[in-house]
Amino acid sequence: MTPEGVQSFANAWNRIELRHDSRQIDLDGRRIFLSEGVIAHQSALWLSAADVASLIHPVLRPQDFADQARVVKRIWIDAGHGGKDRGTHNDPLALSEKHLTLDVALRLEKILTAQGFEVIQTRREDVYIELAERGELSRDSDLLVSIHFNAAGNPDAHGTETYVLTPAGQRSTGDHKQRTVDELAAEPGNQTDAWNAILGYQMHDALVGDLGTLDRGLKRARFVVLRLTTVPAVLIEAGFLSNDEEATRIASASRRGEIAESIANGIVAYANLVLSTQP
Ligand SMILES: [Zn+2]
Repeated sequence: MTPEGVQSFANAWNRIELRHDSRQIDLDGRRIFLSEGVIAHQSALWLSAADVASLIHPVLRPQDFADQARVVKRIWIDAGHGGKDRGTHNDPLALSEKHLTLDVALRLEKILTAQGFEVIQTRREDVYIELAERGELSRDSDLLVSIHFNAAGNPDAHGTETYVLTPAGQRSTGDHKQRTVDELAAEPGNQTDAWNAILGYQMHDALVGDLGTLDRGLKRARFVVLRLTTVPAVLIEAGFLSNDEEATRIASASRRGEIAESIANGIVAYANLVLSTQP
């Protein structure tokens, strides 16, 4: 451990950097949020067993979870918001999240279909669909990707966030309270915790790597769509509409094409990883 409280571990394939008292780690150059802070004990840093089991182990050794793997043939694309639910917006630039998510979803479908995947969309037009329905319907697929754009009170905030479902009994990112008894119960989406983590990492790596955006981290939350599906699922916050510079970029069709390409790359990387674990 350095005086700054940083400790790194590396082998020929992977490198992990831990920081004392932090819930953020660096895994192969990507930012990952843990449920528990890293602690120092006898001049070494320690991760919680829960974070190792539900996050680090699956991401580093997917082959150990081969028996729970789901080969990707049918992909559920969930364009966030719609109809009466605009999502976030940037009014000076006349941008509504619901239109941007649908545009990216339709571009993504073209790319994935051309690669031989079957695609189902939550919506193909500007309609409102309940969150619970989105999650439940997607159970008839092999992977769910939910597409969103972000907003923050601070207009400087920008970059990419990727979310997977918080495992039972663990804390969501940004949740600093003690856990409640409610959080001990497993949600339907927790059936695939290991592959959620693997999908989340592959997706986040592709997005940040391809788009060159600020890496705001692979995070965990109990979003309804993620809770109610039963297939590996990821929710993408592909950029901030509240940041004028990022929003202006997202307003261009070519940038939305790049976002769709990078999501497809994340899915393909994950699908290939699943295949590599199969006999
Ligand atoms: Zn949204």
